[in-house]
This record gives sequence, structure tokens and C-alpha cells, in this order.
Amino acid sequence: MDTPHAASTSSITVPTGHAVPVRSITVLGATGSIGTSTLDLVARSGGAIDVVALTAQSNVAQLAELAIAHRAKHAVIGNPAHYGELCARLAGTGITCAAGPTAITEAASMPADCVMAAIVGAAGLAPTFAAAGQGRRVALANKECLVSAGQVFLDHVTAAGAELLPVDSEHSAVFQAMAGNDARSVETITLTASGGPFRTWSKAQIAAATPEHALKHPNWSMGRKITIDSATLMNKGLELIEAFHLFQVGVDRLAVVVHPESIIHALVSYTDGSVLAQLGAPDMRSPIAVALAWPQRIATPVKRLDLITLKALHFEAPDEDRFPALTLARAVMSAGGTAPAILNAANEIAVEAFLSRRISFPEIAGLVGETLEAAAARGLAVVAATLDDVLEVDAEARRLAAAVLDDTV
Ligand code: NDP
Ligand code: MG
Repeated sequence: MDTPHAASTSSITVPTGHAVPVRSITVLGATGSIGTSTLDLVARSGGAIDVVALTAQSNVAQLAELAIAHRAKHAVIGNPAHYGELCARLAGTGITCAAGPTAITEAASMPADCVMAAIVGAAGLAPTFAAAGQGRRVALANKECLVSAGQVFLDHVTAAGAELLPVDSEHSAVFQAMAGNDARSVETITLTASGGPFRTWSKAQIAAATPEHALKHPNWSMGRKITIDSATLMNKGLELIEAFHLFQVGVDRLAVVVHPESIIHALVSYTDGSVLAQLGAPDMRSPIAVALAWPQRIATPVKRLDLITLKALHFEAPDEDRFPALTLARAVMSAGGTAPAILNAANEIAVEAFLSRRISFPEIAGLVGETLEAAAARGLAVVAATLDDVLEVDAEARRLAAAVLDDTV
């Protein structure tokens, strides 16, 4: 075993796929970047995929529009203040409506061949657990679920007989490069990182970075939280933890390389010296299509690669001095237990604080590091056996992070 908490027999490695086409879908986080890309592919399926339920948090107008356009059966808004408006907008359509976090979790449990788990942050945990509990396919975009609940989530997936398909582009790439191969022959998994908007910025420039600077991702169009995570490289740290759980190869076999073009999404190196990589334009509709159709393939309008036009691809080592979030993520991955859940909760608080201009860009990683220290000093629970345990640690870590934040500003 490579780490104190390496491979468990109940892990998900590479599912072979049930080979039953997805005929119905529920999209959690339907109004987001992943949600709308998913619905774009559903629309292109020409009626082959029915929409069961769509959920959002507060974007009620867009949720109602999407529900009507995709003939959903049910729509749920997380913020109960918008319940009346949602029902009014859906009046006469036959689409049922509901509101509140419990209603989102209930929607996740409605029978559907596939649930796209695309709520951002730890708010996605309970609905994603509920979706997995159905024992059908879960297309997992919400990386915070694997980061915070790790083995607890995988055990739940296994117990329910659900099929977990990664949506994160790097993990979809690894999944595809491992298909048909023996996981024991994997030497290294390398995730690529674009390097974000500050890849070439000096420490002094990064210290003065504003939310507007950080929200300008060079290659990908994504939600605000993951875009900030990409700028700090915390996103790559979260993805290392995600890969650790999904592919169970051990901490020392997971690597990150900065690849500014975002064409190669990940590489898997095998014991015979072969390296399998997955390439594609930086458009999430490709990995989403894989998660919906596997083991088949469906057509997407994603821009095709032209290597002659591309000419060259570039690679460099990540600079953990300018981007310490990656170091923090590696440390919690090695520590195991609930340390990644604490890191994730603190990071969510820190990203919000940066976006609302309460702290500077470098203080994001600073706040996460101090919260981890405060949690260790308090002996915050180190083992979680159930979703409730994880949620309790998440809530306590948020309180600690908020206290550290109040001391900082
Ligand atoms: P967005 O911010 O674009 O969308 C988030 C979605 O979640 C929206 O539908 C939003 O509703 C809903 N939501 C927000 N807060 C809550 C809450 N408290 N309870 C219930 N629903 C909520 O995020 P992305 O689509 O970018 O990302 C979604 C997930 O996928 C994240 O975990 C991210 O890390 C992951 N991911 C995203 C990628 C991307 O390219 N975007 C790539 C790989 C992974 P509303 O619109 O009403 O606020
Ligand atoms: Mg990714």
C-alpha cells in the first residue's frame, strides 16, 4: 500500500458500463455551466432522453425556462423564497414544482436512468448521495462530494450498486485511458492543469489580483467557484483527491503537469512504458457525453482538434511557491480521514470571501491553511463513517474558517 489509506476493495475503478442507453435524466444544478451543457446534449439527442427533474438554487427564471424547453416532469428551486414564482412560471405546463434543500434531495431520488450531479460545493453532497442510492448511473461533476466524503461516498455507491461516471474532464480522460487495462499495471496518473490566468504572473502581481482578473479563465468557461479554484490551483488539488478516490493508485502515483493549451486532459503511464493520453478541445460537452453514453459514444458539436493548426503543446512544472493551494491539497490527501473535508469547507468560505473582496487572492490559501491548523489544534473529528459525520465536520470547519476570517479582516 502506498499510503495509510490506500486502496479499499470496495473502490470504484473503471466501470464497464451497463451498456443500457440512458433514456431519462435528472439534472441537479441545471442552471449552471455543467447543467446547461448537459441539457444542450439532451436537446441534441432528438428526444432519446427524457428529462425527469431539474434543480437550481435561486435562478428561478432560467430554471422555469429550461424545465419548459426540455419538457421536464418536475422542477425544484433550492431557495424557498422563490417557490411562488417557480409555480407561477410553470402554471398550466403540467410540470410539478417544489422548493428547499430536502425537495432537491427528493428530486435526486426520483427514478431516472442517470442523475447529473452538477450542484456546486458541499451543498451537492446530500443530493448526490440520494442519487447514488437509486442504484442507477451517477454522472459526477460535483467534485466536492468525492473530496469531502471520499470513501464514505464510494462505499455508498457500491452498496447501492450504482454506476459512477466521472464528468471532470481530467477524470473522464483517466477513465477512458484506463478502460480495458489492468489498474494494477498503472504506474502514474498525470492530471494536466491550464495554470489559470496567473500562470505567468509574479508573486507581487498575484498579491494584487482582483476577482475580475481571477474570473478570466484562459481556456474554460465555468462557474465562478471553480474558476477561482482554477486560478489558485486549488481545483487541481481537489482533482488529485478526486483521482485518488476514483482510481485508487496511491498518493505518490498522482502527478500534475501544467499544460497551458488544455488539449491533453490527463495521461496514464503503465508498467510497460506506454502512456495513454486523452485529447480534445476544452469543452465540457465531451466528458459529459462520455458520462451519458458510456460504453457507447454520442455525437457532439465540440470543435475538432487540428494538430497542424495547433503546432505545439507545452508543459511545465506547477510552481507551488506561487500556488500553495496545491501543497495544501497534497498534505490533506496524505493525511486522509476528514482533512480533505475541512480543506474543502474552508476553501468554499475563502473563495466567497475573495469574491466579496474581504480578502486578497493569496489569503485564500492562507485562510485554508490556518483553518486546517485550527482544526488540528481542536482535534476536530478525523474519521467519518457516514454522510452525517461528513456534514458535521463540514459545518464545524466552516465555523472555524469564519472565525479565522473574522480575525484576518
Ligand atoms: P455553476 O456555478 O455554473 O452552477 C452551479 C449550479 O448549482 C447552479 O445550477 C446553481 O443554481 C446550483 N446551486 C448553487 N448553489 C446551490 C445550493 N446551495 N443548493 C443547490 N443548488 C445550488 O457551477 P459549475 O457548473 O461550473 O460546476 C458545478 C460542479 O461541477 C462543481 O462542483 C464543479 O467543481 C464541477 N465541475 C465543473 C466544471 C465546469 O467546467 N464548469 C468542470 C469540472 C467539474 P443557481 O443557478 O440557481 O445558483
Ligand atoms: Mg477538471
